[in-house]
Amino acid sequence: MSRPEIEVRALHKSFGDNEVLRGIDLEIGRGEVVCVIGPSGSGKSTLLRCVNLLEEPSKGQVFVGGTEVTDPDVDIDAVRRRIGMVFQQFNLFPHLSVTENLTLPQRRVLGRDKAEAARVAAENLARVGLSEKADAYPASLSGGQQQRVAIARALAMGPRVMLFDEPTSALDPELVGDVLAVMRGLAEDGMTMMVVTHEMTFAREVADRVVFMDGGVIVEDGSPGQVIGSPRHERTRHFLSRLL
Ligand code: ADP
Ligand code: MG
Repeated sequence: MSRPEIEVRALHKSFGDNEVLRGIDLEIGRGEVVCVIGPSGSGKSTLLRCVNLLEEPSKGQVFVGGTEVTDPDVDIDAVRRRIGMVFQQFNLFPHLSVTENLTLPQRRVLGRDKAEAARVAAENLARVGLSEKADAYPASLSGGQQQRVAIARALAMGPRVMLFDEPTSALDPELVGDVLAVMRGLAEDGMTMMVVTHEMTFAREVADRVVFMDGGVIVEDGSPGQVIGSPRHERTRHFLSRLL
Protein backbone atom coordinates (compact mmCIF):
# COMPACT_ATOMS: atom_id res chain seq x y z
CA MET A 1 0.00 0.00 0.00
CA SER A 2 1.37 3.40 -0.95
CA ARG A 3 0.89 6.24 1.49
CA PRO A 4 -2.13 8.49 1.22
CA GLU A 5 -1.67 11.69 -0.77
CA ILE A 6 -3.06 13.72 2.11
CA GLU A 7 -2.78 12.66 5.75
CA VAL A 8 -4.03 14.76 8.62
CA ARG A 9 -3.21 13.52 12.11
CA ALA A 10 -4.66 14.86 15.35
CA LEU A 11 -4.87 18.34 13.89
CA HIS A 12 -5.83 21.19 16.17
CA LYS A 13 -6.15 24.86 15.32
CA SER A 14 -7.05 27.69 17.63
CA PHE A 15 -7.49 31.38 16.98
CA GLY A 16 -6.85 32.85 20.41
CA ASP A 17 -9.29 31.10 22.76
CA ASN A 18 -11.39 29.80 19.89
CA GLU A 19 -10.50 26.19 19.18
CA VAL A 20 -11.70 25.80 15.62
CA LEU A 21 -10.25 22.36 14.84
CA ARG A 22 -10.40 19.91 17.73
CA GLY A 23 -8.51 16.86 16.59
CA ILE A 24 -8.98 16.05 12.91
CA ASP A 25 -7.78 12.73 11.48
CA LEU A 26 -8.21 12.26 7.76
CA GLU A 27 -6.55 10.30 4.97
CA ILE A 28 -7.10 10.85 1.28
CA GLY A 29 -5.68 8.29 -1.09
CA ARG A 30 -4.18 8.92 -4.47
CA GLY A 31 -6.90 9.74 -6.99
CA GLU A 32 -9.53 9.91 -4.31
CA VAL A 33 -12.17 12.66 -4.26
CA VAL A 34 -13.35 13.65 -0.81
CA CYS A 35 -16.14 16.18 -0.31
CA VAL A 36 -16.22 18.01 3.01
CA ILE A 37 -19.62 19.23 4.10
CA GLY A 38 -20.87 20.91 7.24
CA PRO A 39 -22.43 24.06 8.64
CA SER A 40 -20.89 27.49 8.37
CA GLY A 41 -18.23 27.97 11.02
CA SER A 42 -17.55 24.26 11.48
CA GLY A 43 -13.90 24.66 10.42
CA LYS A 44 -13.97 23.42 6.82
CA SER A 45 -11.98 26.31 5.37
CA THR A 46 -9.54 26.25 8.26
CA LEU A 47 -8.91 22.56 7.63
CA LEU A 48 -8.17 23.17 3.93
CA ARG A 49 -5.98 26.13 4.80
CA CYS A 50 -4.00 24.01 7.27
CA VAL A 51 -3.33 21.43 4.53
CA ASN A 52 -1.47 23.98 2.41
CA LEU A 53 -0.18 25.98 5.37
CA LEU A 54 -2.16 29.13 4.69
CA GLU A 55 -2.87 28.60 8.40
CA GLU A 56 -0.33 27.19 10.80
CA PRO A 57 -1.77 24.29 12.79
CA SER A 58 -1.62 24.64 16.59
CA LYS A 59 -1.00 20.91 17.04
CA GLY A 60 -0.86 17.77 14.94
CA GLN A 61 0.64 16.82 11.61
CA VAL A 62 -0.19 17.16 7.95
CA PHE A 63 1.49 15.14 5.19
CA VAL A 64 1.07 15.75 1.48
CA GLY A 65 2.56 13.24 -0.92
CA GLY A 66 4.38 11.67 2.02
CA THR A 67 6.15 14.91 3.01
CA GLU A 68 5.37 16.35 6.40
CA VAL A 69 4.28 19.90 5.62
CA THR A 70 4.04 20.71 9.33
CA ASP A 71 7.76 19.98 9.77
CA PRO A 72 9.27 23.32 10.87
CA ASP A 73 12.14 22.83 8.42
CA VAL A 74 9.93 22.19 5.41
CA ASP A 75 10.36 24.27 2.27
CA ILE A 76 6.95 25.94 2.31
CA ASP A 77 7.17 27.08 -1.30
CA ALA A 78 7.93 23.55 -2.43
CA VAL A 79 4.88 22.35 -0.47
CA ARG A 80 2.58 24.93 -2.00
CA ARG A 81 3.78 24.07 -5.50
CA ARG A 82 2.34 20.60 -5.04
CA ILE A 83 -1.04 21.80 -3.89
CA GLY A 84 -3.52 23.61 -6.12
CA MET A 85 -6.10 25.72 -4.32
CA VAL A 86 -9.31 27.16 -5.69
CA PHE A 87 -11.33 29.61 -3.61
CA GLN A 88 -14.88 30.86 -3.65
CA GLN A 89 -13.54 34.20 -4.90
CA PHE A 90 -11.56 33.54 -8.04
CA ASN A 91 -8.70 35.95 -7.24
CA LEU A 92 -7.60 36.39 -10.86
CA PHE A 93 -5.21 39.22 -11.63
CA PRO A 94 -7.59 41.78 -13.20
CA HIS A 95 -4.91 43.62 -15.17
CA LEU A 96 -3.63 40.44 -16.86
CA SER A 97 -5.16 38.51 -19.73
CA VAL A 98 -6.36 34.96 -19.16
CA THR A 99 -3.17 33.53 -20.65
CA GLU A 100 -1.01 35.88 -18.58
CA ASN A 101 -2.91 34.80 -15.44
CA LEU A 102 -1.76 31.26 -16.22
CA THR A 103 1.78 32.00 -17.35
CA LEU A 104 2.87 34.47 -14.66
CA PRO A 105 2.85 32.05 -11.70
CA GLN A 106 4.51 29.34 -13.77
CA ARG A 107 7.32 31.72 -14.68
CA ARG A 108 7.68 33.30 -11.23
CA VAL A 109 7.27 30.24 -9.06
CA LEU A 110 8.45 27.40 -11.30
CA GLY A 111 10.91 29.36 -13.43
CA ARG A 112 9.48 28.05 -16.70
CA ASP A 113 10.48 29.89 -19.84
CA LYS A 114 7.94 31.86 -21.81
CA ALA A 115 7.27 29.26 -24.50
CA GLU A 116 6.86 26.40 -22.04
CA ALA A 117 4.57 28.44 -19.79
CA ALA A 118 2.45 29.41 -22.81
CA ARG A 119 2.22 25.80 -23.94
CA VAL A 120 1.09 24.60 -20.51
CA ALA A 121 -1.37 27.52 -20.27
CA ALA A 122 -2.95 26.61 -23.60
CA GLU A 123 -3.20 22.95 -22.61
CA ASN A 124 -4.99 23.77 -19.37
CA LEU A 125 -7.29 26.38 -20.89
CA ALA A 126 -8.38 23.66 -23.31
CA ARG A 127 -8.96 21.36 -20.37
CA VAL A 128 -11.47 23.80 -18.84
CA GLY A 129 -13.04 24.58 -22.23
CA LEU A 130 -11.84 28.17 -22.50
CA SER A 131 -9.28 28.17 -25.30
CA GLU A 132 -11.17 30.92 -27.09
CA LYS A 133 -10.80 33.24 -24.07
CA ALA A 134 -7.00 33.13 -24.00
CA ASP A 135 -6.62 36.84 -24.75
CA ALA A 136 -9.66 38.06 -22.81
CA TYR A 137 -9.44 39.96 -19.52
CA PRO A 138 -11.14 38.61 -16.39
CA ALA A 139 -13.71 41.42 -16.20
CA SER A 140 -15.14 40.37 -19.58
CA LEU A 141 -15.80 36.81 -18.39
CA SER A 142 -18.74 35.39 -16.47
CA GLY A 143 -18.16 34.24 -12.91
CA GLY A 144 -18.23 30.63 -14.05
CA GLN A 145 -15.64 31.31 -16.73
CA GLN A 146 -13.44 33.16 -14.23
CA GLN A 147 -13.62 30.22 -11.87
CA ARG A 148 -12.66 27.85 -14.69
CA VAL A 149 -9.65 30.09 -15.43
CA ALA A 150 -8.73 29.92 -11.73
CA ILE A 151 -8.88 26.12 -11.92
CA ALA A 152 -6.73 26.12 -15.07
CA ARG A 153 -4.24 28.44 -13.38
CA ALA A 154 -3.93 26.03 -10.46
CA LEU A 155 -3.58 23.04 -12.81
CA ALA A 156 -0.88 24.77 -14.84
CA MET A 157 1.39 24.48 -11.79
CA GLY A 158 1.20 20.69 -12.03
CA PRO A 159 -0.17 20.03 -8.53
CA ARG A 160 -0.37 16.56 -6.97
CA VAL A 161 -3.57 17.46 -5.17
CA MET A 162 -6.29 20.05 -5.64
CA LEU A 163 -8.15 21.75 -2.81
CA PHE A 164 -11.44 23.51 -3.51
CA ASP A 165 -13.14 25.80 -1.00
CA GLU A 166 -16.78 26.27 -2.03
CA PRO A 167 -15.78 26.89 -5.66
CA THR A 168 -19.34 27.45 -6.84
CA SER A 169 -20.82 29.33 -3.89
CA ALA A 170 -20.29 32.79 -5.40
CA LEU A 171 -21.77 31.85 -8.78
CA ASP A 172 -25.18 32.48 -10.26
CA PRO A 173 -27.02 29.15 -10.30
CA GLU A 174 -26.94 28.81 -14.08
CA LEU A 175 -23.12 29.01 -14.06
CA VAL A 176 -22.52 26.35 -11.43
CA GLY A 177 -22.89 23.37 -13.77
CA ASP A 178 -19.98 24.27 -16.05
CA VAL A 179 -17.59 24.56 -13.11
CA LEU A 180 -18.77 21.28 -11.60
CA ALA A 181 -18.36 19.61 -15.01
CA VAL A 182 -14.72 20.69 -15.11
CA MET A 183 -14.20 19.32 -11.58
CA ARG A 184 -15.91 16.09 -12.54
CA GLY A 185 -13.51 15.78 -15.48
CA LEU A 186 -10.54 16.28 -13.17
CA ALA A 187 -11.84 13.59 -10.87
CA GLU A 188 -12.21 11.21 -13.82
CA ASP A 189 -8.63 11.98 -14.83
CA GLY A 190 -7.51 10.72 -11.43
CA MET A 191 -6.74 13.97 -9.61
CA THR A 192 -6.67 13.75 -5.83
CA MET A 193 -9.24 16.28 -4.65
CA MET A 194 -10.53 17.68 -1.39
CA VAL A 195 -13.67 19.71 -2.04
CA VAL A 196 -15.59 21.80 0.46
CA THR A 197 -19.02 22.16 -1.09
CA HIS A 198 -22.74 22.42 -0.51
CA GLU A 199 -23.45 20.78 -3.88
CA MET A 200 -24.93 17.50 -2.69
CA THR A 201 -25.56 16.15 -6.18
CA PHE A 202 -21.88 16.62 -6.99
CA ALA A 203 -20.87 15.00 -3.69
CA ARG A 204 -23.20 12.08 -4.28
CA GLU A 205 -22.11 11.48 -7.88
CA VAL A 206 -18.41 12.36 -7.87
CA ALA A 207 -17.04 11.89 -4.35
CA ASP A 208 -15.49 8.62 -3.25
CA ARG A 209 -16.06 9.76 0.33
CA VAL A 210 -18.01 12.43 2.11
CA VAL A 211 -16.81 13.92 5.38
CA PHE A 212 -19.29 15.76 7.59
CA MET A 213 -17.72 18.29 9.97
CA ASP A 214 -19.40 20.08 12.84
CA GLY A 215 -17.87 22.08 15.66
CA GLY A 216 -14.28 21.41 14.56
CA VAL A 217 -14.53 17.63 14.48
CA ILE A 218 -15.30 15.04 11.83
CA VAL A 219 -18.68 13.62 12.77
CA GLU A 220 -19.00 11.17 9.87
CA ASP A 221 -16.67 9.93 7.15
CA GLY A 222 -17.96 7.41 4.66
CA SER A 223 -19.31 6.77 1.20
CA PRO A 224 -21.72 9.36 -0.22
CA GLY A 225 -24.47 6.78 -0.07
CA GLN A 226 -23.87 6.29 3.63
CA VAL A 227 -23.19 9.86 4.81
CA ILE A 228 -25.74 11.62 2.60
CA GLY A 229 -28.09 8.71 1.99
CA SER A 230 -28.34 7.23 5.47
CA PRO A 231 -26.43 9.36 7.99
CA ARG A 232 -25.70 7.74 11.32
CA HIS A 233 -25.64 10.87 13.40
CA GLU A 234 -28.42 13.23 14.32
CA ARG A 235 -26.18 16.24 13.63
CA THR A 236 -25.62 15.05 10.06
CA ARG A 237 -29.33 14.42 9.53
CA HIS A 238 -30.16 17.87 10.89
CA PHE A 239 -27.61 19.54 8.58
CA LEU A 240 -28.80 17.64 5.50
CA SER A 241 -32.47 18.32 6.24
CA ARG A 242 -31.79 22.05 6.19
CA LEU A 243 -30.22 21.86 2.72
CA LEU A 244 -33.32 20.41 1.11
P1 ADP B 1 -16.27 27.11 7.64
O1 ADP B 1 -15.37 27.18 6.46
O2 ADP B 1 -16.72 25.73 7.98
O3 ADP B 1 -17.44 28.04 7.52
P2 ADP B 1 -14.09 28.39 9.01
O4 ADP B 1 -12.97 27.44 9.01
O5 ADP B 1 -14.04 29.50 8.03
O6 ADP B 1 -15.46 27.60 8.91
O7 ADP B 1 -14.21 29.07 10.43
C1 ADP B 1 -14.32 28.34 11.63
C2 ADP B 1 -14.19 29.29 12.79
O8 ADP B 1 -12.90 29.85 12.80
C3 ADP B 1 -15.16 30.47 12.76
O9 ADP B 1 -15.61 30.67 14.07
C4 ADP B 1 -14.30 31.62 12.32
O10 ADP B 1 -14.76 32.81 12.85
C5 ADP B 1 -12.94 31.26 12.89
N1 ADP B 1 -11.84 31.78 12.07
C6 ADP B 1 -11.52 31.41 10.83
N2 ADP B 1 -10.43 32.07 10.39
C7 ADP B 1 -10.06 32.89 11.39
C8 ADP B 1 -9.01 33.84 11.55
N3 ADP B 1 -8.10 34.05 10.59
N4 ADP B 1 -8.93 34.50 12.72
C9 ADP B 1 -9.82 34.27 13.71
N5 ADP B 1 -10.83 33.40 13.62
C10 ADP B 1 -10.96 32.72 12.48
MG1 MG C 1 -15.53 28.18 4.68
